[in-house]
Amino acid sequence: MMDGVFEVPLPENEPVKGYAPGSPERAELHVALASIASEQLEVPVVIDGKPFRTGRLTEVAMPHDHAHVLATVHHATAADVNAAIEGALRVAPAWQALPFEERAAVFLRAADLLAGPWRMRINAACMLGQSKTCHQAEIDAACELIDFFRFNVAFARQIQAIQPRSVPGQWNRTDYRPLEGFVLAVTPFNFLSIAVNLAAAPALLGNVVLWKPSHTSMVGVWHCLQLLREAGLPDGVIQLIGGDGPEQGRAALASEHLAGIHFTGSTGTFRALYQGVASNLEHYRSLPRVVGETGGKDFIMAHASADADALATAIVRGGYEYQGQKCSAASRVYVPRSLWPAVSERVCAQIAELKIGDVTDYRNFLGAVIDERAFGRITGYQALAKESAKVLAGGGHDRSKGWFVEPTFVEVADPKHRLMQEEIFGPIVSAFVYEDAAWSDTLTLVDTTSPYGLTGAVFATDRAAVREAQDRLRQAAGNFYVNDKPTGAVVGQQPFGGARASGTNDKAGSLWNLGRWLSPRSIKETFVPARDWRYPFVG
Ligand code: NAD
Repeated sequence: MMDGVFEVPLPENEPVKGYAPGSPERAELHVALASIASEQLEVPVVIDGKPFRTGRLTEVAMPHDHAHVLATVHHATAADVNAAIEGALRVAPAWQALPFEERAAVFLRAADLLAGPWRMRINAACMLGQSKTCHQAEIDAACELIDFFRFNVAFARQIQAIQPRSVPGQWNRTDYRPLEGFVLAVTPFNFLSIAVNLAAAPALLGNVVLWKPSHTSMVGVWHCLQLLREAGLPDGVIQLIGGDGPEQGRAALASEHLAGIHFTGSTGTFRALYQGVASNLEHYRSLPRVVGETGGKDFIMAHASADADALATAIVRGGYEYQGQKCSAASRVYVPRSLWPAVSERVCAQIAELKIGDVTDYRNFLGAVIDERAFGRITGYQALAKESAKVLAGGGHDRSKGWFVEPTFVEVADPKHRLMQEEIFGPIVSAFVYEDAAWSDTLTLVDTTSPYGLTGAVFATDRAAVREAQDRLRQAAGNFYVNDKPTGAVVGQQPFGGARASGTNDKAGSLWNLGRWLSPRSIKETFVPARDWRYPFVG
């Protein structure tokens, strides 16, 4: 037993390593890349810490070298999912009974292991498995995940400190219970940090979790699961159930013990899960919490007072980093006619300098898109651009060795073109040129053109224009940027998420998200209770 009001460590954002030529981190990463590339992993279903090989396999290849298989992944059957639920519910009482500090210590230790001895292994797995450059892997698999682990502990502590007032004669307390049942974490391919956090955040608060990752992220996911084990996460608290999704999702949603879904991925998948929960409602012991961060059609709105260089750089970095496969990626841009010649010329010049290829060649700014399905979808949009808009840069692709798509810059004449409305999730940015005098009407266009509401940016030096855009686009983006690209949210600095078709806006990496995995209990204790039923008024 221990008594004490323990302070949790004050989190700082993990510094981003530079990987400059000759740096020690570059040399270490080189060794880790060789090691991950030389193994062929077999990723089992993991229930109560034990591997299960179902024999229903999917291969995971490097997106930039699709002949190179990195792993085979076993798909969980409905029976595996049920066994995972039973196992998780068995370990739940012991996990919940651990004092918060002990659970927190597991994730703080994971953060320090990842910041230190595990950093290169996990960065290398992310680079090769998800085709990220060393910078993109570093800001995702290392820094953001470390930040999630550390900041979640501090945010959870802040929540616990929110306590009701007590009046003389009584003591009121709030007990922050985990949910009763299990949380299903269904996670996307594009961010390893998000994938791990969707399972880890509910677990920190005492929940037990079934984790269904995207199979294209499985190499990184597997190493992260080993990291959590080394950090001391007890078996069964996070169960790994690989697979395509529908089969595992159906089995999990059928359980009366489903307490919540923590999802990030596409809008369509989230709606299907939400629908599944809705049609099962009378069956559940508790109404499940449904939290989902989904797609985006993120905008940059430029005013005539904008700085053309800054705007062009934001379009290039915001639109093409990680091949445009960020939910926050800039993909529709509105530029006033007076600025267009300078901006389009600078964007095209910068695109001409971007190299694309194997991510282990550090000169490359873009790797490959995740898989053949994504390649087909994105090149379909390239074809649409060629037939119905003006392709100003890029437009090509090459599937011979990897799923490579050139960064593509398009000008559309119709502001409601499909390229301005639909999430492409690839390296295509479309621009609409508006007449300078139509600034105000164009704000309406930005607000009403796509169903999403995730991220957006305004570029202007005129303060009145900044203010007007902020007001008029208030519901158009959950993360709004002024004179910056709409990507790159940092835990603790810009809590992330959007509404409309972009999700429930529960702000990953914040106190609000953690609150969804808690079911507070109010406790009132009266020190000297009444002993006579009569109130004065009956006298
Ligand atoms: P996806 O929807 O294809 O898959 C997400 C997960 O859902 C995967 O694990 C998949 O296997 C699983 N799945 C698919 N169908 C399922 C079903 N019927 N039942 C249960 N699970 C199912 O998404 P993706 O391609 O992995 O990720 C890209 C999408 O994620 C984009 O739309 C992007 O905008 C979005 N995203 C959003 C955020 C955000 O914070 N808003 C962050 C990252 C990615």
